Amino acid sequence: MPPTDGIGRRKTGTSNGAAGMAVQLSRAEIDLALARATTTRHLLVEPGGMAAAGSLVPRIFPGRPVVIVADDTTWRLAGEPVTSALRAAGQPLLDPVLFPATPTLRPDTRHVAAIRARLEAAGEPVLPVAAGSGSINDLTKRAAHEAGLPYVAVATAASMDGYTASGAALIDNGVKQTFGCPAPVAVIADLDVLCAAPPAMTASGYADLMGKVTAGADWIVADALGVEPIVPDIWEMVQGPLPAMLADPARYQMGDPAAIEQLFLGLVLTGLAIQASGSTRCASGSEHQFSHLWEMRGLEHEGEFVSHGAKVGFGSIVSAALYERLLAHDWTSLDVDAAVAAWPAWETVAAEIRALDDSPELIRRALEECRAKHMSPEALRERLETLRNGWPALAERLLAQLMTPDAIRDHLAAVGSPVTPAQLGLTAAQVRASYEPARRIRRRYTVYDLAYEMGVFDQMVDEVFAPGGFWGPSAT
Ligand SMILES: [Zn+2]
Repeated sequence: MPPTDGIGRRKTGTSNGAAGMAVQLSRAEIDLALARATTTRHLLVEPGGMAAAGSLVPRIFPGRPVVIVADDTTWRLAGEPVTSALRAAGQPLLDPVLFPATPTLRPDTRHVAAIRARLEAAGEPVLPVAAGSGSINDLTKRAAHEAGLPYVAVATAASMDGYTASGAALIDNGVKQTFGCPAPVAVIADLDVLCAAPPAMTASGYADLMGKVTAGADWIVADALGVEPIVPDIWEMVQGPLPAMLADPARYQMGDPAAIEQLFLGLVLTGLAIQASGSTRCASGSEHQFSHLWEMRGLEHEGEFVSHGAKVGFGSIVSAALYERLLAHDWTSLDVDAAVAAWPAWETVAAEIRALDDSPELIRRALEECRAKHMSPEALRERLETLRNGWPALAERLLAQLMTPDAIRDHLAAVGSPVTPAQLGLTAAQVRASYEPARRIRRRYTVYDLAYEMGVFDQMVDEVFAPGGFWGPSAT
């Protein structure tokens, strides 16, 4: 079965050709999204884009001294060429903030403080320029905000959707959370650099996009149950181009500039949707909760931290496997009385969380987040009745949105992203034991909460690992 068969019904509207390139994101679509964004005004993606920064930056911030933030690798790829371009254009430059390339820089708030101190030491308004991908960008974004400064992002890989997103996903005291801060004023990318990025980074960007399949499903669930309504134009920005982006993943591994540009624009568009809606709901669901859990636990594989996208991609398999079991049942006969009768009081839940063998910070976070989404028995009854009565329609929407876990695995494997627990540095038992804590770490309503409130969480997870389930004993 070709991998594209796994994409939901929506693909019939996109007329994907065999090459999967029939639907392309146009510059006009991006410009429309830029017009809706709150902060990002300029997007420059072209071959030799680093040199072009020399005309863009002086035009937006004439005479403002630039402080480039980079690690040793991204300094060479982006910091240095941007420095040369700015110097030639007469833009003042201060000393860069440089981090070692190894060990991999983590998005820890301690580094935010260090960058902020350097920005403030200038004694005048400077322009921070983040030259790099995930951590460099998030750290600079937050430090710029704390210093009251706008910033510019220079991308070095199509590795995640955070370049144009507002908010920075940072680790504070061991807990991963989103810190408020505006997106960059301008995003600059050199297509040559994006194409030359390590294949694993491009795979990570693809896997981050794959996460929008389950994130969309989670939003559908929240919408159907009246928890968080879908905002149609935001939904369209993320989900509209998605099937075409996900089709034919192998093309991204070949470094084809047209494909890499499309992948980057897809990630940019998702970030702009986050910016326009002021929430990550459109781009981040249960799969990101799996990712954040293992980020907090410092997951490493072969001595390296596992990338955001790799964890998100695998997390979308984890979520899709749970959806698959839920959708295998007819919940129009759900025993609402039994679920309400079995519903624990908050004190019971809190005692269970306090008794967990996990870090104090994770436990504190779980208490806070679970408290925010814990329902009264009356409210639970109403929600479950809505679910029971609306199940056929909800199931239909979910089937149209989702890909099967097998299809997600095949797509991710084709792009070179991890698809087995071992490839991620985990055991199957650890994956199984992740469902519950992943549900607890964030208040956002997802498939995890749905199964939990129905009283079938353990049963569904058991089914995932039972014969016939995605990770059943016969799974290959
Ligand atoms: Zn992500």
